[in-house]
Amino acid sequence: MALYKHILVAIDLSDESGLLLDKVRTLAENCQADLSLIHVIEPLSFAYGGDVPMDLTAIQEQLDEHAQSKMDRYCQKLNYPVRHTHIVSGHTESEIHRIAEEQQCDLIIVGSHGRHGLALLLGSTANGVLHGAQCDVLAVRVGKED
Ligand code: AMP
Repeated sequence: MALYKHILVAIDLSDESGLLLDKVRTLAENCQADLSLIHVIEPLSFAYGGDVPMDLTAIQEQLDEHAQSKMDRYCQKLNYPVRHTHIVSGHTESEIHRIAEEQQCDLIIVGSHGRHGLALLLGSTANGVLHGAQCDVLAVRVGKED
């Protein structure tokens, strides 16, 4: 029996996402698991406490389109069938938890950085995803060791 049936991979669409997806592909192949990807866009208004004296709609739309085209490129490069791609807006950790539960994923994969110290053991997002997840979470080391 396969260890995992549906894996959700959280990608921030940075250059490190390619490294993350290389490892994910091997794992998904071994488990013969379904694979879905998620990228969360935090609304610009979050950064300004929701009280912005200008209309950010056009900028937000550009950010969404840019994220979609990057996501498409990563899917093409992945060389593994992708069940769903989710580009959602909201708070990163909560959206990852929400989609993982909705889609009945049994593993969430996030990248983690080689920083020093306790808070640095996992990246901040990886740490946040771990707490409150209803399924297993795998943190894959990406980026430079320092
Ligand atoms: P961070 O700790 O924020 O540097 O991010 C570590 C990992 O969290 C990344 O490699 C991704 O797996 C995930 N992550 C960070 N930001 C996002 C995002 N906006 N959407 C989806 N996943 C993210």
